[in-house]
Parts: sequence; structure tokens; C-alpha cells
Amino acid sequence: MPGSVTLKSPINALKGVGTKRAEQFHKLGVDTVYSLLRYYPRRYINYTEYLPIAQTVIGENNVVRARVYQKSPESRIRKGLSLYKVFVTDDETEMVITIFNSKYMYEALKLGQEYVFYGKVTGNLFKREMNAPSFVPYTEQMKMMPIYSLTEGLSNKMIASAVETGFRLTDDAVFDPIPADITENYGLCHLNFALHNIHFPENQNALETARKRLVFEELLTLQLGMLLLKKRNREESGVSIKEYDWSGFEALLPFSLTGAQKRVIADCVEDFHCTVPMNRLVQGDVGSGKTMVAAALGYLMAKNGYQTAVMAPTEILSEQHYRTFCRTFENTGIRVCLLTGSLTKSVKEKETAKIAAGEYDVIIGTHALIQDSVQFDRLGLVVTDEQHRFGVAQRSKLAAKGENPHLLVMSATPIPRTLGLIIYGDLDISVIDELPAGRQKIDTMAITGKKRERALHFIRGQLDRGLQGYIVCPLIAEEGESELKSVTGYAAALEKGPLRGCRIEILHGKMKAKEKDAVMERFKQGKTQLLVSTTVIEVGVDVPNAVIMMIENAERYGLSQLHQLRGRVGRGSEKSYCILISDNTGEDNRKRLKTLCETSDGFRIAEEDLKLRGPGDFFGARQHGLPDLKIADMAADMEILKQTQQLAKRILEKDVGLRLPENKGLRRLVSLLFAHGDGQFFH
Ligand code: ADP
Ligand code: MG
Repeated sequence: MPGSVTLKSPINALKGVGTKRAEQFHKLGVDTVYSLLRYYPRRYINYTEYLPIAQTVIGENNVVRARVYQKSPESRIRKGLSLYKVFVTDDETEMVITIFNSKYMYEALKLGQEYVFYGKVTGNLFKREMNAPSFVPYTEQMKMMPIYSLTEGLSNKMIASAVETGFRLTDDAVFDPIPADITENYGLCHLNFALHNIHFPENQNALETARKRLVFEELLTLQLGMLLLKKRNREESGVSIKEYDWSGFEALLPFSLTGAQKRVIADCVEDFHCTVPMNRLVQGDVGSGKTMVAAALGYLMAKNGYQTAVMAPTEILSEQHYRTFCRTFENTGIRVCLLTGSLTKSVKEKETAKIAAGEYDVIIGTHALIQDSVQFDRLGLVVTDEQHRFGVAQRSKLAAKGENPHLLVMSATPIPRTLGLIIYGDLDISVIDELPAGRQKIDTMAITGKKRERALHFIRGQLDRGLQGYIVCPLIAEEGESELKSVTGYAAALEKGPLRGCRIEILHGKMKAKEKDAVMERFKQGKTQLLVSTTVIEVGVDVPNAVIMMIENAERYGLSQLHQLRGRVGRGSEKSYCILISDNTGEDNRKRLKTLCETSDGFRIAEEDLKLRGPGDFFGARQHGLPDLKIADMAADMEILKQTQQLAKRILEKDVGLRLPENKGLRRLVSLLFAHGDGQFFH
């Protein structure tokens, strides 16, 4: 009985979707009929825009309108592979369609009938071919066909037809979560129209209307969620600081703090005077000494009897911070501990008990710190390092562990101001715009592969002097036809050739945390001379004896990312070098790499990146810990982003917790977008 299927029904309530297929849908994040309708196509094939066969571009996907004039019988190539050829023409040029193993498709194509085909055109000027194309019979009312992201076993057609069934059974039941006055004011269409036309657009116009509405909804949800998260941190802090004098801290260091470090510390100490907790972002270029800012504040917290939690994105970084803090606080009585995922259960239990009992003052760790089992005694300050790897939601979860502790976010990604305001909303921002004295400029050069041998020779010379280096490759292992360099292949070649006898190790993201740590540890101790790595070494790693950073396929990375990588060297007293290798001699790429050779100012580089590549690079959702967006593109949809930012503020001014009945739908959207599997958004 069709009436029994509702939007809430599990996906297998649809005819044609069994248990197995339902599992495949689950892989796409689709579990109910509603979430199926919310599974938007990735793109569309516009069947109205077909080309004459003679004008198709060989090697690319094309849309062609043609008539079947001949069909050759099945030919069996070998066991399990049969092949069908169908000959089509648009009355000027002929084309051969090849179908593999599908008698059904073959029979669907009828002699004398006209179809629209979509697929990659191969062959040559005189003989064009299309293998296994998608096709529909040609009619006067041609439309656009949705193309979905697929998963193994689930074809585009299956998804499209499930969506169609879903619409048929639940039509008109779609409730619009956006209050009517908003849809009216912003000229948005109803959700029902939007969903229909995002899947099966009537025409280009309808598609745009639908897309605008869904983007608006998604960005509004994002902004509401962010604001709500931040509002929580604006409640009164239970932390009471009595002692503001941190001047004893500097005496613990082997160097004096830079003016910028002192200024930023002072900004934070100023925040401690207020009743609302600090909510501050410290932006400082790589190597500007952000860790010391955190340490100074940890020192002050300990003096006031409060604990500080320092959260780093990786085990490597946590351990590095742990050592730095231990060294700095050696004779102060400040007790430091490390809590990471790789501790044994019994050690972890012992440590968490001690944290809860207040026997540690500074607690350093990875994600393990935000697990429910970790309770603090008197949490005064939470520091997240390189925050872009942490989700906004995770951050707030940690903050919820104390009585609204102060929050410091440290980021090495210089972000142009305009974008920073959007990404960080109402975080206060301090900038460390000065490097510690005595840093030498890193000599940076951009070369092509022709000079690789010479560069390696130079590297060998540096290694022979007892110095260390990094080489970064984009891939972990060789991939078929790819011309990109791979970590494993590269390291092996170096060992056999130019760097024979050197102690080389590899590092990449697929290795277990333990292995990675061991590799990093040997590198830090100088046991390894050269690390061939993917970009996992990008974040925060500090080995002052490393003086070489060579980056293969430099064209693959954004300027800001290259700048980050470069920041791994130039941390000690020896002269450091950064070598960018790229065989892409295009004007744009050359210009980009030249910028990097000329300047070491992260903010200037970020501005340049923004100009050359647009804001996309800064908005990588993952990078900033923003929730995954399904349809909005923060770079392209900047206008809507601004609109929704304003609107979200206004909505929350009137309805602080999204509790009014008319905002029920919005509330639901927010909890869906921010759920992330770590529990309820609204408590
Ligand atoms: P980042 O800002 O990239 O996190 P770190 O905190 O890792 O930088 O500091 C980079 C290096 O600079 C460390 O070895 C640290 O000990 C050193 N350092 C930090 N502050 C100073 C300073 N004021 N003078 C000299 N060296 C410093
Ligand atoms: Mg750092």
C-alpha cells in the first residue's frame, strides 16, 4: 500500500530497494526516504545541448543526438565478455556505439529510433566511437539528467529511480523547515519545488532556483549552528583569576619573548579580567612561537590554581608539546601530563584519575582529551593548536567540560581578514607578526625536474654535514599512470641512487600512529637524516636541525600550504633551503612559485593565494573543522554566505535558543548538520 511509505520510512520501504541495496544506500549516508530526497546530484547532463557528431571532442564526454541505423549481433570476446555494436548517425556523421555484457541495453536501442547519447568519445576524426554510453530516447521535451556520486553496486540509474519512487509515494508531504516570512523576503522557492528540481530539473532556470534555495538553507543552518556554539561560550565564566602577574614566566626560557608574543599574551591576560570567557584566535606565522603563548597562559593558570588543557591534532604534535612544556616548567612545580589514544587502558585510567583529582596542571593530548571519561578538576583554559583540524563542535565539547573555561585557538594559517571574519565569526583575533630574532631567511628556489639531480647532490652535501631534511611527495605509493611522485617509490630510488648510504625513512598518513611516532622520534634524535613524506609533516613539527625542504609536484599545492611546509625548516641556527620542483611551466604556476621565492610573509602569501585561486582553498571544510556541506560552495556562494550570516544573527536575537515553534524546522536542520555522530547538538 503506497500510503504506508512516509518520509521517515527506512529506505528499504521503497519498492525495488531490498536489504542489500539498502546497505549500499547507507554507504552514501542515505537511510530514510527523506535522506534519499536530500541526496543531491553531483552534476547534470544536459540532454538539450547535444553536438553534431563531427564536432564532438575526442577524449571527452559529449552529448550526441543520433539515430540507430544498424545493429550487429552479439560477439563473444572471451568467456564472460560479450560485446554489442550499434551503428548510429546524425545524418552527417556516423558513430559506433559499443555495449559490454548488457543484452538489455542492446535491446533497448531500436533500429530507426532516435536517441540522445552521453559518454566519452574515442576514435579519430574519421571514425568516432562511444563505449557504454548513457542514453535516453529523444523527445521534444528533453531534460537534464541527474548524475549522482555512486558507491559500489549502486548505479546512477538505480539512485535516480529510487528518488523517483520516493517522490511518487511521499509527494506533498515535504515540510519546509524555513519559516515562510524568510522564504518570502529572500525570494526562495518552497522546499518541495527545490527537491524536485534539484533531482529532475524542468529546465536550467528551475535548477538555479532550486539550488539557490538549498544553498541558502544549508548556509543559514551553518551560520545558526556556529553562532549557537559561540553563544555558549559567551555565558559567564566560572573561572576566577586573582593573580595576573606572569612576569616570572620569561625567566624559565632560554630566550627572551618577542614583542609580538608579549603583546598577544597581554591581550589574553586582559581577557581574563572579563566575566565572559576569553574566545580568542591567535594567528601567527609558522615558527612565530605560538607554543610559548600557550605556555605563558598555562603558567598563569597554574599560579591561580587552574588547569590548562592543550589539544593538538596529532600524536606527534602532542608529544612535542609535552616535551616543550616539561622542559619549560622543569623546576616550577607545575605538573604536566600527556593523554593520547595510544596509551594502554590501564595507564589512561590512572592518568585520567589523576587529572580529575587535580594532580596535573597542564594536560596535553589529542582527541582523547574530549572523551567523556576525561573529567577535569578545575579547568581554566582550553588551548587548541592548529585548530583547523578540529571541528567547531569538538572545540565546544571540550569547553563544556569546565565551568565555561577560557578558550584560545592557535592557527598557523594566515587568513586574509575578510575571510577570517566569516570563518571565525566573533572570535577575537590576535596576530603574532614578528619572528624570533636571529632567524635566517630560508632560501627558496623553484626548479624543474631537469635540475633534480643537482638538487639531490646539494642535499647530499647538507646531510653529510650532519644536517637533516625533508622531501615531500603527493602520493604514498605509485599509482598506475600517474606522473606524480610517490613517497615509497621516491625513497627507494634515492636509496639505490643519489643518496645511497644515507639513512632515509618514509612517513605518510596511512601508517599507524605508533609507527609514525617512531619514525618522527628517530628523525628528531637525528638517527634518520632524510624524511620522505606526504604532507603529514605539514603541521607544527619542530626539528631545528632540519634545513632542507624539497617539494615535488609543487604545482599541486596552494601557496599557503607550501608556505606551511617550508616552515618546517629554518628553525635553528643553520641556513635553510626550500626547493620547489615543478614541471608545470605555465605562466600561473611560475608566478605562484615566484611569490614564494620572494617573500616569507604568510599574510602576503595568503592574499596572493586568494587573488590567484579564489577563496576555495581557505574554505576547505575539513581544514577549518566546519561541518561537511552538501551543496553550498563557500567560495562561489559568498553572497549567500553574507546574507545568511546577517539573517542568522537576527533570528537568534529574537529567539536565543531556537525554541519558538516557527523555528522548529531550523532547529532540526542545525542538529542534523552539526550532529557528526558525537551526540546531540541541543542539550
Ligand atoms: P609555531 O608558532 O610555528 O607553533 P613554535 O612555538 O613551534 O612555533 O616555535 C618555533 C621555535 O621557536 C621553537 O623551537 C621555539 O622554542 C622557538 N622560539 C619560540 N619563541 C622564541 C623566542 N622568543 N626567541 C627564540 N626562539 C623562540
Ligand atoms: Mg605550533
